[in-house]
Amino acid sequence: MDTTDPDIRFDKFGVCNHCHRYDSLLKKRVFTGAEARMKLDGIVKRIKLVGKGEKYDSIIGVSGGVDSSYVAYLAKKLGLRPLAVHFDNGWNSELAVSNIEKVLDKLGIDLYTKVIDWPTFRDLQMAFLKASTPDGEIPTDHAINAFLFQEANKRRIKYIISGMNFATESMAVPAWSYGHSDMKYIRAIHRRFGSIKLKGYPGFSFVNLFWWTVFKRIKVVSLLNYTDYNKEEAMDVLQKELGWFYYGGKHYESVYTRFFQGYVLPIKYNIDKRKGHLSDLIRSGQITRQAAMDILAKPIYEEKLLKQDKEFVLKKLDLSNEDFNALMTLPNRTYQDYPNSAKAVKVIKLIVNWLREKGIYSK
Ligand SMILES: [Zn+2]
Repeated sequence: MDTTDPDIRFDKFGVCNHCHRYDSLLKKRVFTGAEARMKLDGIVKRIKLVGKGEKYDSIIGVSGGVDSSYVAYLAKKLGLRPLAVHFDNGWNSELAVSNIEKVLDKLGIDLYTKVIDWPTFRDLQMAFLKASTPDGEIPTDHAINAFLFQEANKRRIKYIISGMNFATESMAVPAWSYGHSDMKYIRAIHRRFGSIKLKGYPGFSFVNLFWWTVFKRIKVVSLLNYTDYNKEEAMDVLQKELGWFYYGGKHYESVYTRFFQGYVLPIKYNIDKRKGHLSDLIRSGQITRQAAMDILAKPIYEEKLLKQDKEFVLKKLDLSNEDFNALMTLPNRTYQDYPNSAKAVKVIKLIVNWLREKGIYSK
C-alpha cells in the first residue's frame, strides 16, 4: 500500500494503519484449528435448528466468483439447505453466468435471480459517472446487500451466508470506494445527475437495516472465517469438483467492474485496487510481498480485452467516445462533495461492531 490512499498513516516503524487494523481484528474475526471447528459446528447447528421445517435455512448471494461459489460449496458440505440468489445488473460476463449455473447445478442448490430494470440501472450508473467520484460500483454493491436482506425477510430466512472473509478481503479504503450502506448519498447523486425515476432499485435505509437485524433477527454469517480459507486451494476445489472456471482478476465476473477497476479507477483517479487485494493476501500469508510487487508491475488490463470491454461498455451505456472522454476529464470529486450519511455510517459501524461482538448482528 502507498499514499494513493490519501488517508494512510504510517507509524515510526513504517507500518500502516491497514496492517494495524488487520492485526487487531484478525484474532476477533478469524478462527483456526479446533476452535474454528467448534465454533463452525455451533453455527451450523443453530442455522439448522432455526430453519427447521422451512424450505430453506439460509440464503447465499452468488456472483460466479471464487468466494461466493466456494461458500455455497461449503454450506452444502455442512448439510445446510441454502437458497442462492443472484442480482443481475445487466453486466454479467458469460463466464460468470455459466459458473453460477454449473456450480449450483452440481450442488443441487435452487437459484433465484433478480434482474433489475436496465434503463433505471443505467441511469444510476451514468449519474455516478457524471458525479465524477470513484464510487461507480456503489449502485451494485448497495443493491446486492439490500436484495439479500429483502429476500431473507420475505422468505423468513434468518441467516445470510456471506462469502466475505476477513483474511483475504479485510481492507476498506473510503477514499477508493464509499457508500455501500449510504442510501442518502446514492439518492443525492441520482437526484442531481439522473434523469428518470429510481423505480425498483433495492435500496435500504438505516431504519431498514435496524429492523432486519434487531427485530427480524436476520444474521450475516461469514462461514469462511471459520475455515483456513485459502484462495488458491478454493479455486482448485471448485475447478476439480464443480467444473468452475477462473475468469482473471478479483470481481471480474462483471464486465463493468472489470472496466471500472481496470480502466476508470486507475486512469482517472490513480487508484489501483489490486494494491488492497494483494495487501490482504500478503498479510494472510497467501502470497509474498515480492510476488505481489511482480503482479503490480504488470499492466492491469490486457490491451485486446480493454479495447473489447471499452467498446462494449460505451455501447451498452449509449455513450459516444467524445461523451466518455468528457466524463473522464471532469474534475475528480469525492462523496464529501455531495449530501451523505458518512457521520451516521461511522456511528452505525461502531454499533454493528458491538452487536457483532454480542453475536446479534453477525457471526
Ligand atoms: Zn501496511
